[in-house]
Amino acid sequence: MIEIENVRKSFGSLEVLKGIDLTVPRGEVLTVIGGSGSGKSTLLTCINGLEPINAGRILVDGTEVHAKTTNLNRLRQKIGIVFQQWNAFPHLTVKENVMLAPRKVLRQSKAEAEEMAVRQLTHVGLGDKLDVYPGRLSGGQQQRMAIARALAMTPDYMLFDEVTSALDPQLVGEVLDTLRLLASEGMTMICVTHEMKFAREVSDRVAFFHKGVMAEIAPPADLFDNPKDPELQRFLAATH
Ligand code: ATP
Ligand code: MG
Repeated sequence: MIEIENVRKSFGSLEVLKGIDLTVPRGEVLTVIGGSGSGKSTLLTCINGLEPINAGRILVDGTEVHAKTTNLNRLRQKIGIVFQQWNAFPHLTVKENVMLAPRKVLRQSKAEAEEMAVRQLTHVGLGDKLDVYPGRLSGGQQQRMAIARALAMTPDYMLFDEVTSALDPQLVGEVLDTLRLLASEGMTMICVTHEMKFAREVSDRVAFFHKGVMAEIAPPADLFDNPKDPELQRFLAATH
């Protein structure tokens, strides 16, 4: 379970998270929507401790992310994160790229890491690309490799930050299908996305962020068909 309690986060004098309260239970798929600069990416980077917070606390399975005593490296093994773009190591094959973190961080043997890499790459539909170099992959394939790389660490939580927004429209579907597959397998996921159709289909709940505030959170049918917050109403009218 991820518990976010009254979290505040500023960059200099700019407060970008203004007291966020949110609990994400195991198995939930939460999508986060909202305008540019509303704090969506910042929330994700705070959850896995990439960014410090100014007030409140975040607990992952009861461990306080920003406590001085917390072993962040160990905590991050539980939380996979995939961004808009990930620069793979160009001189390593797809399989070798996926093997890297399990080898280095989890100290897996070559055979173990290889087995996991093959399994996760096959899982995301890249079983036939194991030995090619990342430069030969399409954008959608590169994103699926990034997902496989995160999955190879056997995380309990996955955070996705607009993983399809750098892709050509015809490549978006294959990446969303991979996210759908993970959701159907019960992975706990927080997905920042602009894909409203995806959010509606896959989410248990959708959270709308506006200027650092979580202005509304509800199951997708309620949030999309009966938005209460005026800013959300405006946002949805503009994105449809
Ligand atoms: P987008 O949809 O454009 O990705 P977002 O909702 O993810 O937007 P954030 O990236 O969380 O927004 O940014 C929230 C605010 O914090 C923005 O005003 C941004 O300029 C600012 N910000 C983000 N990261 C930093 C940083 N490292 N240093 C200073 N300001 C930052
Ligand atoms: Mg962002």
